[in-house]
Amino acid sequence: MIAENPGYFNSLAHLQAPEFLWIGCSDSRVPANEITGTQPGEIFVHRNVANLVINTDVNVLSVLDYAVNHLKVKHVIICGHYGCGGIKAATTNTDFKPVLNMWLRNIKDVYRLHREELDTIKEEETRCDRLTELNVKEQILNLAKTSTIQRAWKKEQRPHLHGWVYGLKDGIIKPIVEMNAGTHIDPLYEYDDL
Ligand SMILES: [Zn+2]
Repeated sequence: MIAENPGYFNSLAHLQAPEFLWIGCSDSRVPANEITGTQPGEIFVHRNVANLVINTDVNVLSVLDYAVNHLKVKHVIICGHYGCGGIKAATTNTDFKPVLNMWLRNIKDVYRLHREELDTIKEEETRCDRLTELNVKEQILNLAKTSTIQRAWKKEQRPHLHGWVYGLKDGIIKPIVEMNAGTHIDPLYEYDDL
């Protein structure tokens, strides 16, 4: 790296001002920088199995808080991927033992919300791919339900939320859902004393 750009490490060590928060899957085949063609310093990253935003997960909520309130990111991207092992596991009846069962249950809940549509898809891979898209949508909604996002929307008209799914087979990113800052969601989840 130094041979290519002598100032590389020096500039990175002194500055972190990413405009994007990336919430992606832990899968080793979906690294955020490579997928988006970005460099270190450009994206703040959180990854977990099947890119979930769970409202009791201190880890993801801390990353979100730091990215939104301190780094002041303009965009939050949730990126799932087709062929996701976590998504597929959640559609089975296998007992993966307590911790994984707890985690995967969140995806089972997404399936249940969309059972009518998903049950009509006979082919397993196609059904899992659709669940991957619906899961991304649900996780975007989970972001919008947080007071962290709602406060930033109200006070600073950012960040915009983007739900994508990445194709392992072709490297193409499919946009699934966009939620601009200030979008109204089910009023039950909207805080009025932000
Ligand atoms: Zn995955």
